[in-house]
Amino acid sequence: MTSPSKGSCLCGAIVFEITGDFKHFFLCHCGRCRKGTGSAHAANLFAPGGQLTWISGEAEVRSFQLPGTAHARSFCATCGAALPGVQMGGKVLVVPAGSLDTPVAARAEARICWASRADWDEGLDSIPKLDGLPGA
Ligand SMILES: [Zn+2]
Ligand SMILES: [Zn+2]
Repeated sequence: MTSPSKGSCLCGAIVFEITGDFKHFFLCHCGRCRKGTGSAHAANLFAPGGQLTWISGEAEVRSFQLPGTAHARSFCATCGAALPGVQMGGKVLVVPAGSLDTPVAARAEARICWASRADWDEGLDSIPKLDGLPGA
């Protein structure tokens, strides 16, 4: 058992703590994750049996389950930031890596649903990397 990970939403109303080991770390390029994140992929850590404790703002947590599917996401009612949630029938704690404020030791192990990637999602690893915002 590793030390607890801590995280929060963008507006800061919601703060949480995670206890448990991250067994998997996937970047999911499926259309649902792209809609949910507005980006090329979701980046989720999976902690089977992990414990999620809301330190503050629990009343602001909203969850959405896509009808007829196992796809779910949790987010802040105020700022919309992605939040952890228990999925797969209560068995697995799914944690958006970007929601964490403490260091993440795990490294993503695979890009999944790669066949469903966006048409602009090609060669993103090779484009220029700027340390800050682009110049005007
Ligand atoms: Zn928020
Ligand atoms: Zn997905």
